[in-house]
Parts: sequence; C-alpha cells; structure tokens
Amino acid sequence: MAITDKIYVKNHRQLASQLETSFPKGAFKGATLDILFQGEGLAKLDDASRDRVLEFAEDFMDCDCQAAPHCGCPERKFIGYLLELREQGLGPDAIVDVMTDDYMLYAYPGDILSFLDDSVRTLEAIETLAGVDGEREVEREAGERRNHLVR
Ligand SMILES: [Zn+2]
Repeated sequence: MAITDKIYVKNHRQLASQLETSFPKGAFKGATLDILFQGEGLAKLDDASRDRVLEFAEDFMDCDCQAAPHCGCPERKFIGYLLELREQGLGPDAIVDVMTDDYMLYAYPGDILSFLDDSVRTLEAIETLAGVDGEREVEREAGERRNHLVR
C-alpha cells in the first residue's frame, strides 16, 4: 500500500455531516477527492475547514490532466510534500502535526516512518545501480537526496 492510502481526513464525521453526504475517510480515495476536495459542498463547511480543504485542492489538485483528480498527480505531489518536510529535518510525529495544521489530514507516525525508510532504501538502490552502470550524475543525485532524508 502506498503511503497516500494511509493519509486520513481529520474530523471526517463532522465534515461528512456538514456536507450532508458520506465519503471515505482516506484522503486520496477517489470519492473523497471528488466530494470533499472538488465538490460543490464547500460552502457548507465551517470557515476553518473550508480554508484547509481549499488549500489542499490548490496545492495538490492544480494539474490540467484530463483524468484529474484521478491522474496520480495529487498522490505524487503529496509524496513530494512529505519528503520536503523530512528534508527540513522533521521527524514522523512533527510531519503528522504539520499536515494536520496545513490540511486537516493525519496519518500514523509509524506509517510515515516506514515510508521514509522505504524512500531511503529506494534511493540507496538507485545509487547502487547507477554506480554499477557508471551513471555518475544519477548516482551523485540519489546519494545527495538520501543524505537529506537521513540527517
Ligand atoms: Zn494530473
């Protein structure tokens, strides 16, 4: 399961009742993207929730793909956001706090930790393969990104 399958909407029940409809708890479920993040119900949300929902839509759902928001861009951008927080030196708990502040989302810190570990391992594998293939530039870049994640 991708980490984006383990990102949840905070106050999910409260939002569903404000919208007078139901949607899944997972933030990146197709129906959540449709109903909560680009639905017509925005006006029904309280101010604080609406701000966060709009912020999410602006930051992760701003692509022009025909299949948007089911094109994979929101997931890809969110993973970039998580890695950026890590590169700023935040640990799993702090990353969860920030995503809650920014977008009213949450995850289990343990899931974030495994995601970060996996990312480091993936970069290590890229680095090794690139080294074997003599792709110095790729090797160097993967190494640099990995260093940012593990510091
Ligand atoms: Zn897209």
